[in-house]
Amino acid sequence: MSYKVIAIDGPAGAGKSTIAKKLADVIGYTYIDSGAMYRAITLKILVKNIPLKETEKLISIAEETEIDFRDNSIYLDGIVVNDEIREERVSRNVSYVAAIPEIRKLMVDIQRKISRNKNVVMDGRDVGTVIFPQADVKFYITASVQERAARRYNELKQKGYEAEIQDIKSQIAKRDHIDSTRSDSPLRAADDAIIIDTTGKSIEEVLDEVISNI
Ligand code: C5P
Repeated sequence: MSYKVIAIDGPAGAGKSTIAKKLADVIGYTYIDSGAMYRAITLKILVKNIPLKETEKLISIAEETEIDFRDNSIYLDGIVVNDEIREERVSRNVSYVAAIPEIRKLMVDIQRKISRNKNVVMDGRDVGTVIFPQADVKFYITASVQERAARRYNELKQKGYEAEIQDIKSQIAKRDHIDSTRSDSPLRAADDAIIIDTTGKSIEEVLDEVISNI
């Protein structure tokens, strides 16, 4: 039996994980959040207070770290860190850590390993280009920076947090810039990806569009 991979890539805050999770539920596939793994390593680095410029140290931390993603939870050395990896300090620093090729290699090995022997929906930046270039279906989900920032702003407001839309917007733009200009596995749509611009669309509309393509 051959197992299937659906790849969902795209820039920060485009709604990839919401769509990927719902899609996985609907079609009975396993959801894997590849970004959560980079966030977990970044969290550990921040907790240990290692300066980001000490690349060799960051690599050796990554080498001795156990990362797993199962049942919609991210495990860092055996502990669930679902909430901690969403902290703002992690969002602000993760792209620097994710640009280090040695760390990427470790993560890609884990991402391939945990996808073995199952049907998966994986979201990230390089799923369709690097992790699974032979994925069965590839999507590239995007939206304008303005819309992505507004969605994030509303989400934070709803949770009772104070936020400035301009700050969110510049943080998203900065992360996109770092992710798309790094030399190893930059963010880009695979040549055979189906591109969906979600600007002005509801989650249901996007999900319908995705399902109609698979
Ligand atoms: O998907 P999310 O926004 O949580 O990803 C956080 C960061 O992890 C991205 O901004 C990017 O730097 C990195 N990442 C990556 N490759 C992936 C997934 C995420 O470089 N496949």
